[in-house]
Amino acid sequence: MPLIGAHVSIIGEISLSFERAKAMGCTAFQIFTRNPRGWRAKQLVEYDYINFKNKYKETKLFPIAHMPYLPNIASPNREQYEKSLNVLCEEVVKCGKLGIPYLVTHLGSHMGTSEEEGIRRVASACDTALTSSSDNVMILLENTAGQKNSVGHTFEHLRRCIDLIDDDKHIGICYDTCHGFAAGYDIRSQSKIESLLSDFDKVIGLNRLKMVHANDSKGALNGHLDRHEHIGLGQIGLEGFKFFLQRREIKDLPIIMETPYDSDEACMNDIRILWDIALGRI
Ligand code: ZN
Ligand code: MN
Ligand code: MN
Repeated sequence: MPLIGAHVSIIGEISLSFERAKAMGCTAFQIFTRNPRGWRAKQLVEYDYINFKNKYKETKLFPIAHMPYLPNIASPNREQYEKSLNVLCEEVVKCGKLGIPYLVTHLGSHMGTSEEEGIRRVASACDTALTSSSDNVMILLENTAGQKNSVGHTFEHLRRCIDLIDDDKHIGICYDTCHGFAAGYDIRSQSKIESLLSDFDKVIGLNRLKMVHANDSKGALNGHLDRHEHIGLGQIGLEGFKFFLQRREIKDLPIIMETPYDSDEACMNDIRILWDIALGRI
């Protein structure tokens, strides 16, 4: 069964995310376990953990967590770095207790220092966070669009980061199609995809690729713009998604869309397209 899903809300109670995902026809889904735009997190209680695990067993939907937006684990600013590291540690522990296998994080911004220094700080943060939980949580590094001062927009950055992490068996990659496109990785033709995947394999290793964020791109190829668009309506287009998501290297991975939220209908339409592609109906 293909793992297809969307980003869903945890509002009210974290385990409600399973019902929301199910109602949308998802077999996988992604959540923020806390407010993505704030530093403070509502503490989860024993009841939340038990309920979440029960829903997991009952529904068999595949849950994935995403780090909130404010932390920057590549930051040269000590205070910001410590705060960010703290959130990463908390999230790894929380995922462990919820039974969530993957925690997706962006690498962040080096804020004008250097890519190498930024990557070093990310690697060190991952090592610290991974030692804070004994559970089997994997941190997934997400490729970025290559905005100013960002790290993680080339396969070489991701490889370098993995190389610097001691506990690298708990590190994987989440490939975002919009970010990749914005950073110059084209998926609009079979031959471009072929070379992208062979590049990925050579530099990082395809065994590291654990999931995909399926987002179309408002911005142009190599435009470094992180603006998601509904599947098929952006610069990548439907063909590209069809080619990419039907590849044998990709089709069995969890595919999560993070397209802009305009309406339930638009969202459901994206899910429908992903299913059509996954089941070979288009
Ligand atoms: Zn992300
Ligand atoms: Mn993403
Ligand atoms: Mn994005």
